[in-house]
Amino acid sequence: MLKCRLAGLLAKRGFINQFCCLTYKQLSWVDVQKRLLKTKNAPGSKLGTNPTSVDSVVVGTGNEVRIKPGQRLHIVNQLYPYTIQFKEDPTGKNSGTKRPRESASDDRESPREAQKMKAAKLTEKVPVLVNHGEAQKHTERGGLWSQGLKISMQDPKMQLYKDDKVVVIKDKYPKARHHWLVLPWQSIPSLKALCEEHCDLVKHMQQVADQMVQQCPDSSSLSFRTGYHAIPSMSHVHLHVISQDFDSPCLKNKKHWNSFTTDYFIESNDVIQMLETNGRVTVKEGATELLKLPLCCHMCHKELSTIPALKEHLKSHFPR
Ligand code: AMP
Ligand code: ZN
Repeated sequence: MLKCRLAGLLAKRGFINQFCCLTYKQLSWVDVQKRLLKTKNAPGSKLGTNPTSVDSVVVGTGNEVRIKPGQRLHIVNQLYPYTIQFKEDPTGKNSGTKRPRESASDDRESPREAQKMKAAKLTEKVPVLVNHGEAQKHTERGGLWSQGLKISMQDPKMQLYKDDKVVVIKDKYPKARHHWLVLPWQSIPSLKALCEEHCDLVKHMQQVADQMVQQCPDSSSLSFRTGYHAIPSMSHVHLHVISQDFDSPCLKNKKHWNSFTTDYFIESNDVIQMLETNGRVTVKEGATELLKLPLCCHMCHKELSTIPALKEHLKSHFPR
C-alpha cells in the first residue's frame, strides 16, 4: 500500500521527480474503498511560496486533507496538477463498483453500454495519480457510471464551448434534437452543494446556456428549457439545455419523459432565485414520485398510454 503523503515544501526543494513517479504507482484497494489519498504539508515547516494545494485550497503547515476523486492536487503552486484516475487491475481481485439503483436519466439499458459497464466491473480499477489533462475515471459512492460527466467534460470531442468558469458538452444520450449540459470547472457535486457564493457562477451558467440557444440554427423554430434535475443521476452539477421537441431515440421511458416535463425539472431561474433568497437550493420531497406520473404531452396535455404512442403524437407538434 502506498500512503501518499505529499509534502509541499519538499517538492519546493526539488523533489519533483519523486512526486512525478507517483504517477505510475498504484494505491491499494483499501485506499480505494476509503477514497483515501492523503496529502500533508511537512509538520513544523513554514508554508513556502509554492505550497501544495487541493482545489486551490492550500494545505496549511502540518494539516492533512483528504483528496476526493475529482479534486485537483497541485504540487508546487499550481505547477504540477494531478487528479486521481483508475488503471486496469489485471488481477481483477477488486470488485464492488456499483451503479446507482434509481436515476431519472438511466441510459444504461442499452446492451452495448451494459456490456461496457460489465467489462469495467470485470477489469476493476485501481487509482493512480495522473497528470491532469488526460482522461479521468473515478470511483465514488455512486459508482463509476455516475462519474461519466467528469470524463466527458474533459474530452475535447464532447466540448462545444468553454471559458474560464464553465464548459458546455453534448449530452451523450440526448433526449431531444438539441441537448447540452453546462458544467462548472469547479468541483461541485450536486445542487445540494450550491450556496450563496455560487450565485454568480450559476448565473453565468445560465447566460452561457442562453448564448448556446441563440447560436443554435433551430432556435427560431424550437423552444428550449434550461434547468436541473431534482435528483440527478450523474455527479458534478450540470445544467440541462434541451429543445422541447423530445425527438430522440434516447428518450426511451417514462422516467426520461417525466424528468424533463414535470416539476422534476427545476428551472435554472428558480435555482438562481432560491440561492439569492435562501442561500441554498431546496428540492421538494417526493420528487421521485413525479417520475411515475402518467405520460402527458407537454404541449397539449393529452395523456398517452405508451412511449411509442407519445412519440407518434409528438410528431404532430414537431414535424421534421
Ligand atoms: P441527470 O444527472 O439526471 O441530471 O442527467 C444526466 C445527463 O447526463 C443525462 O441527460 C444523460 O444522458 C447524460 N449523460 C450520462 N452519461 C454521460 C456521459 N458520460 N457524458 C455526457 N453525458 C452523459
Ligand atoms: Zn400534444
